[in-house]
Amino acid sequence: MPDAMAGVASALQAVKKSLPEGVTLVAVSKFHPADAVRQAYEAGQRHFGESRAQELRDKAAALPADIVWHFIGHLQTNKVRPVVAVASVIQSIDSLRLLDAVGAEARRIGRTVDVLLQVHVARELTKTGFLPEEMADAAVRALATEGVRLTGVMGMASNTDDASIVKSDFARIAACFNELKQVIMAGRPEFAVLSMGMSGDAPLAIEAGSTMVRIGTAIFGERNY
Ligand SMILES: *Cc1c(COP(=O)(O)O)cnc(C)c1O
Repeated sequence: MPDAMAGVASALQAVKKSLPEGVTLVAVSKFHPADAVRQAYEAGQRHFGESRAQELRDKAAALPADIVWHFIGHLQTNKVRPVVAVASVIQSIDSLRLLDAVGAEARRIGRTVDVLLQVHVARELTKTGFLPEEMADAAVRALATEGVRLTGVMGMASNTDDASIVKSDFARIAACFNELKQVIMAGRPEFAVLSMGMSGDAPLAIEAGSTMVRIGTAIFGERNY
């Protein structure tokens, strides 16, 4: 695990070097201490991803205010408040109920939060998200929801070493994004984020059109749950 100062900074540089221009890196810091985030921050990283409400709130309070926080985990509606308070982007909108709750909380505190719709294409039933055929309705609902701004789609590929499955998952996620972009979100330049790709599969995601990768392990090392 790269826990020394140089460890995080050099791992971060190596990851950045591997990304083509135009692909945004979200450094996924979940389960790693605020210190590790600070090391990446001092090496120039600004976008960070967290997957638990409490952890996000604690880190946001302890770390520089210009960090752009992305919430990437399954969010229960009763945990919306601390997340809407600090997240710039909620990438994991996986139900209409959650979308409504995020919009209501954002309106309550007088802000607009960027959201991505999470699409479920992976084989694991444990992963959440809208089915591809539910995405159009979800986008329409997001457009009608004050307090949220729909900026794209997030997805995960199946957890497998079979590259052909991973590729086809990413192609399906990209197809969902492109379909929304051409129809419901046509003429809305803010709808530009296709968030897919993690430490193990980022190259395949980028090949399939990803504009944002979410990378934890390759920067911070293994997580201790
Ligand atoms: C944890 C997590 C990641 C990062 O995974 P790594 O394999 O550590 O890069 C990316 N996306 C989501 C949604 C995650 O929960």
